[in-house]
Amino acid sequence: RAKEQGKNQVQFFNETMKQTVLKKTIIETALHQALENREFALYYQPQFDIQTKEVIGMEALLRWKHPQMGLVSPGVFIPIAEETGQIVAIGEWVIEEACRQIKQWNEQYGRSLPLSINISPKQFLQENLVDYITSVLTKTNVPAEQLDLEITEGVAVFNEQYTIEKLQQLKQIGVHISIDDFGTGYSSLSYLRKFPIDRLKIAKPFIDGITEVEEDAAIVASIIVLAKSLKLRVIAEGVETNEQLNVLHSLRCDEIQGYVLGKPLPKEEFEKMYFV
Ligand code: C2E
Ligand code: MG
Ligand code: MG
Ligand code: MG
Repeated sequence: RAKEQGKNQVQFFNETMKQTVLKKTIIETALHQALENREFALYYQPQFDIQTKEVIGMEALLRWKHPQMGLVSPGVFIPIAEETGQIVAIGEWVIEEACRQIKQWNEQYGRSLPLSINISPKQFLQENLVDYITSVLTKTNVPAEQLDLEITEGVAVFNEQYTIEKLQQLKQIGVHISIDDFGTGYSSLSYLRKFPIDRLKIAKPFIDGITEVEEDAAIVASIIVLAKSLKLRVIAEGVETNEQLNVLHSLRCDEIQGYVLGKPLPKEEFEKMYFV
């Protein structure tokens, strides 16, 4: 029995877990330098009206290029930054950089395309989020209506009342709110009638199955109907094929984002593609 327990303990901290902890420590340490060394950049992915195929907005997506590790995926470093709290400083950089870029495009092209940025749960819970966003909008002279904040269902779990108040404050200054990865998180739908939100973003996994898996198609169809009856806009994310696009079109989805019409691009390329 003792031997078994001993064995279990050894197995408890196995090779994979050691690698995971090591990787986490390395990334955490490297993240400390990343802002200072200007290793971050924003890429921009277009969002389209499904009827007209016009660009109606874009999402800013964070990219991190470490001098030795190369490109590190946000899927890897965002959860670590979220856990360590580093996401707050990184997120502030994202807000500033995004607003600077909007301002430049507004002035240069005289067009005011809405821009979505991702706000992580820890960032959303920061006391000064609303003040911070207000100050950046004022400083950069960007209209609040041009900014869309993507939050996940997860923020609702923490404290519903707090979330409602924060969202109301954000609505008051004029920014838009989207629920990112809709359908994959918080299971209760009751928040939809309490939260002042503007748009649902249907999570990619449902879109992946839309042409082959009946259940996924049914879920997507229901989300679109739900959004319409709540007077919310609805966008499908991660749309990769024309078949998926056609199904979404026939289901009367409002907007789409995905490789089929446009990948995330560095600012210069986005500009050449969609502004010039
Ligand atoms: P997300 O906000 O749901 O962003 C959509 C992700 O799907 C992006 O991955 C985008 O590049 C990818 N994508 C878009 N269309 C397609 C497609 O057709 N096919 C495929 N396979 N992928 C597609 P990315 O850029 O790797 O970002 C992953 C996640 O990291 C984001 O998911 C978001 O949760 C987080 N993230 C990215 N930038 C930021 C940021 O500035 N702040 C915070 N807090 N999180 C961020
Ligand atoms: Mg997003
Ligand atoms: Mg998403
Ligand atoms: Mg997400």
